[in-house]
Amino acid sequence: MALIIDKIREDFPILKETIYNKPLVYLDNAATTQKPQVVLDKLIEVYTKYNANIHRGVHYLSNKATTETENARLTVQKFINAQHSHEVIFARGATEGINLVAHSFGEKFIHAGDEIIVSEMEHHSNLVPWQMVAEKRGARLVKWAFNQAGELELNELEKLISDKTRIIAVNQVSNSLGTINPVKEITALAHRHQVAVLIDGAQAVQHLKVDVQELDCDFYVFSGHKIYGPTGIGVVYGKEGWLNQMPPYQGGGEMIESVSFEKTTYNQLPFKFEAGTPNYADSIALATAIDYLTALGLDDIATYEKELLDYAEAKLLTIPGLEIVGTAKKKTSVVSFNIKGLHAYDVGTLLDKMGIAVRTGTHCTEPVMIHYGISGTVRASFAFYNTRDEIDRLHQGLLKVIELFA
Ligand code: PLP
Repeated sequence: MALIIDKIREDFPILKETIYNKPLVYLDNAATTQKPQVVLDKLIEVYTKYNANIHRGVHYLSNKATTETENARLTVQKFINAQHSHEVIFARGATEGINLVAHSFGEKFIHAGDEIIVSEMEHHSNLVPWQMVAEKRGARLVKWAFNQAGELELNELEKLISDKTRIIAVNQVSNSLGTINPVKEITALAHRHQVAVLIDGAQAVQHLKVDVQELDCDFYVFSGHKIYGPTGIGVVYGKEGWLNQMPPYQGGGEMIESVSFEKTTYNQLPFKFEAGTPNYADSIALATAIDYLTALGLDDIATYEKELLDYAEAKLLTIPGLEIVGTAKKKTSVVSFNIKGLHAYDVGTLLDKMGIAVRTGTHCTEPVMIHYGISGTVRASFAFYNTRDEIDRLHQGLLKVIELFA
């Protein structure tokens, strides 16, 4: 069923805002998405009706908040089709999730002389933690370079895997190029060599249906705020077999089974990895966002966003001197571009004055920019609430910017 965009837009109060007296055109969805009213209402509901610290209370409010949080875990489990709910760990976001896996997996399974393969198109949050772990463990980071279109090639990966490789870290979708990577094939190849795979799904779960059992990945992470949920909450999925063997990432309350002054034994999954008071309010509201998205239907979302992408790319390419960075055959609704003779920052600043929000710079992927020999790009990233009219406004805005600089 086709999405009714006018009706959907009504669900997002911020889309009615005006910026410098112009209607807001929000095209920075890869950085963060806007929140539907149901998510905002859920946060108010938690704090006004059953706010209490979870898991350790005997009173009504604590029990209610605990039940809602564990229901949220079940919602996430179903959303990504994890086999067990205790394979779903709540973290602050994708960044914290990757740090958790990198440090905990690294401590147990990465030793001096081992190798970690990381793609060249990773967000810094899926590169820097691995650099830190490699340095700490005396391991070597191996770069899986992408081709000129911004695609990762499996035959190149095969050449990089050795008997020293312990893990491959790769995104399902690149935030700066929009490339959709063949993560199922990557995992299959890695597993033929007994290598684990972490998939950074921060730019994927809001656009594509994800089934971690079908992908067969060992770890999968994403952030709530990029999937129409609140900030400060995210998810780490890990296969039970790995998580049970891995040491806790942080120590504190909740992650313990028993503590004496001399020794601590650890709680079972998932709590072993959730030290301290968890962000229960945002977990609960994340589940509301997931329900909202699921009700719209990810297949319909993907179809509509692909139409937006095709329309935007065709329209923008009519602009003289505009070049798209990232031309993979399979992409989500991200268009990174530069206009000859103009600095991305200037373009973004002038678009802002017209009420159009885009991102400029390296998008936390400096190695991508180094690959192309550029200092950055302008990035327009679309969500299901964006429209062709908004793309037309971006197009007109860019023509105006060119005129101003002429
Ligand atoms: N991975 C990718 C591909 C991203 O695009 C981002 C954020 O832009 C992250 C990881 C980090 O997400 P967060 O800052 O929400 O932890």
